[in-house]
Amino acid sequence: MCIFCKIVSGEIPSTKVYEDELCLAFRDINPQAKVHILVIPKEHIPAFSAINEGNAALVAHVLVTAAKVAAQEGLESYRVVSNCGPDAGQTVEHLHFHILGGEKLSEKMV
Ligand code: 5GP
Ligand code: ZN
Repeated sequence: MCIFCKIVSGEIPSTKVYEDELCLAFRDINPQAKVHILVIPKEHIPAFSAINEGNAALVAHVLVTAAKVAAQEGLESYRVVSNCGPDAGQTVEHLHFHILGGEKLSEKMV
C-alpha cells in the first residue's frame, strides 16, 4: 500500500483539515510555505498522468475540495501544484495537489 493510502486508512497519522467519503486534505509533513496542504482522492490514482474520463468526476471533486480548503484556511492568494513524474519532483505515487500559500510565493514556478 502506498504512503498516502496508509494515511487514508489511518495506518499513518496525519493532521487532517478536511475529509469526506471521496477525498482527504492534510498538512504536508515538510511544509514549503506557511500553509502547505495536500489534497488527495481516497482512491489510489498513481499520478496526474493517470487522470482520464473514467476518474474525471472524482478528480473534479478533489479540485473543488482544494478550493474550499484554501478558503477555509483564509487563503485568497495561493498556488496549486501537482508534480507528475520524477523530473517534476513527484516523490509519492498517489495523485495529490499541493496548496501553497500564507506568504508571498516565488514568482518562478521552476
Ligand atoms: P511530491 O514530492 O510527490 O509532489 O509531494 C509529496 C509530498 O508529500 C511532499 O511535500 C512530502 O513532504 C509529503 N509527505 C511525504 N510523506 C508524508 C507523510 O507521511 N505525511 C505527510 N503529511 N506528508 C508527507
Ligand atoms: Zn495510494
